[in-house]
Amino acid sequence: MPQKIRPVPDDVPPGLWLDRLGRRAGLLLAGALLLLIGLMDYNSGFALRLSALYLLPIAIAAWADGRRGGVAAALAASLLWLSGLPSGRLPGNDVIDLLSVGGTLGSFALVVWLVAHLRRALHQAEERFVKMLEGLGAAAYVVDEERQRLLYANPEMQRLDSRLSEIGPRRFEEQFASEPASGDASRSALSDRVSSALRHSATGRWYRLLEGVIPWGKRRHVKLKVLNDVTEQESAQILREQRQESVHQASRVSALAEIASTLAHEINQPLMVIATYTDACQRLLQAPEVDREEIITVLGRCHDQAMRASSIIERLREFIRQRQHQPATWPVPALLAEALDVSRSLLEEARVSVDSSRIDNALNVVGDRVLLVQLLVNLIRNAIDAMRAVPENQRRLTIAATLEADGGALISVADRGCGLATEDAEALFKPFYTTKGEGLGLGLAICRSIAESHKGRLWARGNAEGGATFYLAIPVDLPVEAAAA
Ligand code: ADP
Repeated sequence: MPQKIRPVPDDVPPGLWLDRLGRRAGLLLAGALLLLIGLMDYNSGFALRLSALYLLPIAIAAWADGRRGGVAAALAASLLWLSGLPSGRLPGNDVIDLLSVGGTLGSFALVVWLVAHLRRALHQAEERFVKMLEGLGAAAYVVDEERQRLLYANPEMQRLDSRLSEIGPRRFEEQFASEPASGDASRSALSDRVSSALRHSATGRWYRLLEGVIPWGKRRHVKLKVLNDVTEQESAQILREQRQESVHQASRVSALAEIASTLAHEINQPLMVIATYTDACQRLLQAPEVDREEIITVLGRCHDQAMRASSIIERLREFIRQRQHQPATWPVPALLAEALDVSRSLLEEARVSVDSSRIDNALNVVGDRVLLVQLLVNLIRNAIDAMRAVPENQRRLTIAATLEADGGALISVADRGCGLATEDAEALFKPFYTTKGEGLGLGLAICRSIAESHKGRLWARGNAEGGATFYLAIPVDLPVEAAAA
């Protein structure tokens, strides 16, 4: 049956039977009782002394209509009672009678005062409660959970759902669900006492629920529930999350793009070398006398470069899959020799001489061989590029590897090329910084991330005598005996 929400305070005072009667019925009841008691007094010839009974209708009238109703009932009761007194007992004849009449009329007045006062205090408390709920700025309602009856709803609540009194609290609460809807869509999020953000399916707005048990007469399962509209905060939060997600997405895309560029960049080198070697093979085959040994050597190098390209792809694939690298110990001279070997055709083609006399043969580092060699190859290739513009007799690459005082290895790749184009050597390591027509500007950025992933550092300096030097500082892997010493 639909529950009618009547305005407070008529409906709110819980438990008092008199409140359910209302003002008019209360006054009528009080009047009827007054007449009944007066009649009983009259019929008994005023022998029963029923003055105490008059207190009941006086209290009812005072409760139903406050002081005004109480005073009217008290006056009526006084007239009825006084008219029944024998004339000889009227006040003024003796002190005892005076006290008795005064006491009775005084008790009537006292009851009026007490009940009216109590009523006002109670109604003021209710009014405070209701005003507070109405001024809350949030939808609030009181529900008897046991009987699923709506006891009170503030105007905000009625604005939220005008059919609230018809559909009842349960169906109203079923319209709320925490988002994203998980599993059972019909489950009411409110009845689960979830205080996280809830979405109202009809309006699409977001609410946060606060609830607590409140005293309501004899009922023990009455709850005050407050629905706070948090749509603005929630949409700001959603926007923030979306922005974070798009930033994340963008960084993933750019990481993928970087990997793709790296792949293109790194693969290009062995492919170029393979192209050079196949050219050489063609020339050898076209020569009047075919040098089989030479062709076999060149084809062997081609094969090595193809394997190298394949291992780069494999390593990058592992990067994408975010697999753990398997670091191993590598002698620095071997890494440098491999890097020089890979760059051999470029060095030869650019007529660059190499000085590798200052390489400490006892140095070992822990790391990923392919990545470390890749780093060194990039530095060598950049040095070759930098020296293309200088006369051939100046094209000298100096590679050194020494054990530093801090216990780390310092590998340097120095050239006599054009030198750094900027005073800010750090700018070179920023992605996409390039001064080359066909450069990508990714090589050094990748080199630095490889160095850092090996707990090392990579930096550049311009040489006083011309050209530039790139330094790689990387922790060494000490042999067991050395570490113990
Ligand atoms: P890319 O070579 O593809 O342009 P890099 O990251 O390898 O990208 O290098 C970025 C820039 O750093 C180069 O374009 C060049 O200007 C500068 N650079 C790198 N190595 C040297 C070097 N040895 N001497 C002078 N400049 C260099």
